[in-house]
Amino acid sequence: MKRLVLTKDELTAWVRRMTEGVRVFAPVAVGDYDEFRLVDSDQADLIRWSYQNTRLSPKGLFHPQAERMFKFSTSKEDPEWNILKEVPKDFSPRVIVGMRPCDAAALKIMDVNFDTPEYKDPWWVRRREATTIVGLACTSPSSTCFCTSVNSGPFDTKGLDVLLVPLGDGRFLLDVVSERGEELCQQFGPGGKEADSEAIATYEGLKKKAEAALVPIGDLSPLKERDMLEFFNSPIWDEVQFACINCGVCTYLCPTCWCFDIQDEVYESEGCRLRLWDSCMFPLFTLHGSGHNPRAEKLQRVRQRFMHKLKYYVDKYGQGVACVGCGRCVQFCPVNIDIREVIRLMLVQCECAV
Ligand code: SF4
Ligand code: SF4
Repeated sequence: MKRLVLTKDELTAWVRRMTEGVRVFAPVAVGDYDEFRLVDSDQADLIRWSYQNTRLSPKGLFHPQAERMFKFSTSKEDPEWNILKEVPKDFSPRVIVGMRPCDAAALKIMDVNFDTPEYKDPWWVRRREATTIVGLACTSPSSTCFCTSVNSGPFDTKGLDVLLVPLGDGRFLLDVVSERGEELCQQFGPGGKEADSEAIATYEGLKKKAEAALVPIGDLSPLKERDMLEFFNSPIWDEVQFACINCGVCTYLCPTCWCFDIQDEVYESEGCRLRLWDSCMFPLFTLHGSGHNPRAEKLQRVRQRFMHKLKYYVDKYGQGVACVGCGRCVQFCPVNIDIREVIRLMLVQCECAV
């Protein structure tokens, strides 16, 4: 597929053309952080092409933090009282521009939960179908990133339609990696010039440099090979859970955490059924109607989070861990609990540490 080189002005003009035909979401500065927001034609030059990573991952564009699923009336005078009606949602075509490769890889992990042969979440599926993704390679990964250790990488194209690579001289290499990306380029011509051998050599050099900047965390295959109960009953969880305050930040920021709760809220005679992100770190998450709570202790909740990502998911799906190494949980945990250290402890526990 084609590779082009665009100046930053050409790139901005391309995004601007997109905004005139489809909805475009892109990273922009919001307060102290960067966030994916809907941008219009006038905002195309506000897009952050050199951001480190957004604090909130773009998973919320597919699985919103709070979403009105259905509405209903509780008034008996309404002939359709207590009948659930779907709240209209926008599934028109859209492009997400500037998504980091780890976040695109995370969507593939989320698909395992929301789009399976047995069960399809209709809103997830329709949003995925409506979306073309233009990724942005990481030429300077953060010290908290470890994507190359978990089946991804700073130039990984998994889950992307187009990859943009900043060449370091104000130009971008545009790599079309799917048919959908090809269609996007046909619909909104990006302009630019065909990449010459010099631009491709620069791209290859930047890729190698970025990959070399990431510190490997070791061979994770023992996580699959060892028995689940060995990990479950390990004494390491006492050490891991010690400082945790169960704030849930790690799960809310994680691009692969998919848990949610469904609640009905009623105001006067108007009701709505909401879907809201939830977290296995909260005691209420597993509280039964009987009052029994199978994960009443902090240790059980902390263990659940890591066992789900690093063992249950691995065993169930055979596709590696449910982590893309974005480093958000490492960066924002208020008590510095580091999943890389948890992995190390698990590997030490099976005497396979590297
Ligand atoms: S962010 Fe840290 S303190 Fe908060 S729940 Fe996660 S591991 Fe615990
Ligand atoms: S577990 Fe942490 S490093 Fe892994 S994907 Fe989630 S937030 Fe990123």
